[in-house]
Amino acid sequence: MNRKVGVVGAGTMGNGIAQVFAMAGYDVVLNDIDQKFLDKGLAAVKKSLGRLVEKAKLTQDAADAVLARIKPSQDVAALKDCGLVVEAATENLKLKCELFCKLDSLCGPETILATNTSTISVTAIAAATKRPGKVIGMHFMNPVPVMQLVEVVRGLGTLPAVTDEIVALSKELGKTPVVVNDSPGFVSNRVLLPMINEAIFCLETGVADKEAIDTVMKLGMNHPIGPLALADLIGLDVCLAIMNVLHTDLGDSKYRPSPLLKRMVAAGYLGRKTGKGFYEYQKS
Ligand code: NAD
Repeated sequence: MNRKVGVVGAGTMGNGIAQVFAMAGYDVVLNDIDQKFLDKGLAAVKKSLGRLVEKAKLTQDAADAVLARIKPSQDVAALKDCGLVVEAATENLKLKCELFCKLDSLCGPETILATNTSTISVTAIAAATKRPGKVIGMHFMNPVPVMQLVEVVRGLGTLPAVTDEIVALSKELGKTPVVVNDSPGFVSNRVLLPMINEAIFCLETGVADKEAIDTVMKLGMNHPIGPLALADLIGLDVCLAIMNVLHTDLGDSKYRPSPLLKRMVAAGYLGRKTGKGFYEYQKS
């Protein structure tokens, strides 16, 4: 694989993914649909690198070099000669299929196309291309520069050599890859989201108040953050979208999203990003 990597989507996940590749010495093309999203993404990388400089984990020169390796572009054609493209655009099947179809016709046959999707089927995304063997899930966790795990998701047609390459690459980025098969929510969200949803049911049915629920899970289960605070961090709209996929695709009523979660999303209470979710936040 050549050392040029494309990242599609400069949002929460995309800018973090661009940062970890640039820190590992890769040249990165960061693509988004609008300059304002690219500016915001690069500002987030700069802030994150700044924190590393403050903690003396990186010199200012090294941070500047990392930032210089990330080239923003609104033109998807700039991804043409990348050895790997990681897609981290909005969680929507139609959008991802259109993007993968475009990337497939644009990139050379050797290019691996990876998706950072949280729940959408990697196999379904791969079917939008003529290279399903070279399509794979590379599911980073939020915040990307901090979190250890990369869930490597094997689609039905993903070639074993491609899985091996992405496993090796994830290690090169300083991450710990875990290979799983393509299934709704993979392992991470199949286990995490029903727990969060159940915590919301506990709140809704008056089992306990929000602080009590989060404290039980923090002190009792040693979770670093309670499930309701975590839902606010992930985004309640994202939580609802994931529960809907689990419910629809697995067809089991145990995955039904809590009515309170649906009402909060309808009200625009999406968590940290809107300043209000289960808790209230100062908007940054
Ligand atoms: P986000 O909304 O912060 O960012 C998405 C970005 O994609 C936006 O900047 C948007 O402008 C851009 N975009 C939309 N359509 C595009 C297109 N056609 N071409 C280029 N860019 C386009 O979303 P996010 O939270 O970064 O999530 C991105 C992906 O990562 C989703 O698939 C999500 O499910 C997944 N994910 C999110 C998290 C999380 O905690 N937020 C964790 C793991 C995986």
